[in-house]
Amino acid sequence: MIDFRSDTVTLPSPAMLQAMIYAPVGDDVYGDDPTVNDLEQWAAERHGFEAAIFCTSGTQANLLALMAHCERGDEYLCGQQAHNYKFEGGGAAVLGSIQPQPIENENDGSLSFAKLASAIKPVDPHFARTTLLSLENTINGKVLSLAYLQQARTFVNLHGLQLHLDGARVYNAAIALAVDIKEISQYFDSMSICLSKGLGAPIGSLLLGDKKLIAKARRWRKVLGGGMRQVGILAAAGKYALTENVTRLAEDHANAHYLAQQLSLLEGFTVNPALVQTNMVFAKLDPAINQQKLQDTLKEQGIILSTGNPVRLVTHLGISRIDIETFLTALKQALKP
Ligand SMILES: *Cc1c(COP(=O)(O)O)cnc(C)c1O
Repeated sequence: MIDFRSDTVTLPSPAMLQAMIYAPVGDDVYGDDPTVNDLEQWAAERHGFEAAIFCTSGTQANLLALMAHCERGDEYLCGQQAHNYKFEGGGAAVLGSIQPQPIENENDGSLSFAKLASAIKPVDPHFARTTLLSLENTINGKVLSLAYLQQARTFVNLHGLQLHLDGARVYNAAIALAVDIKEISQYFDSMSICLSKGLGAPIGSLLLGDKKLIAKARRWRKVLGGGMRQVGILAAAGKYALTENVTRLAEDHANAHYLAQQLSLLEGFTVNPALVQTNMVFAKLDPAINQQKLQDTLKEQGIILSTGNPVRLVTHLGISRIDIETFLTALKQALKP
């Protein structure tokens, strides 16, 4: 299978599976799992935070961050396109009694500080209390600049807000910027990381923050049913992902760029390769192309595409340059009248 739908489809490598099999484990709800404890301690230090918590998913890590930063009746500022606003089932409102205040994202994925400032509520019983700004990096494959992150820190300091990063793909951002991960994480009070996307672990995310925040998150994780027992077998995969699978993300970015370039040469496809910064390509299909038929034809050859137009194609460790050539050949064939 050549699966372009998402980097969440990545499978554990034999070496990762070996690390999982031999991981020492214990009951993590008692704090007894040495592999989880090692991952949490290592990850906290590696990213410049006091503490970390291993979570079931990115959605859970973000929700724990929101519930740990905000109380009932608080609100968080975020992008209209933010995953933790648009794609997490309204969890902050449903389970945290926290109100989102979305702001239209700019074309580069950032949020305008002028628009954010005007959305901050005065301290007055009429209003929810604005307590947090949540950013996302990468956002739809786009990277927020370090200069922007620094401005965001200045902005939250000025307004007395906390700053969270939905860093599901923050390592893609670090690789694209060619900086150490701490150059990004240094600006944030908390950060989530998905281990189960391009980093290639089967399951798991991390939330990073100070000790007090992570203690609160730990309580909420239990409440949400995310207290897991001998979960070191998954934490071992997560540690492997963070130590062995980071630098290779550059390959995914190069492959995405190549894919965009090649697609831009095809009639019926509109793609701007200059906009591809990480592992995502957005290609607009001419409405004259029967997208469903194209998808079905490719699927018969083991190539899976997302629905939607523009169609999103994601590169990852399960897709080699040869796979991309195979896809392009099959696509050209399928497009022949
Ligand atoms: C995938 C993703 C999440 C959620 O991760 P899950 O593990 O799928 O719950 C959160 N934020 C962003 C930006 C994501 O891409």
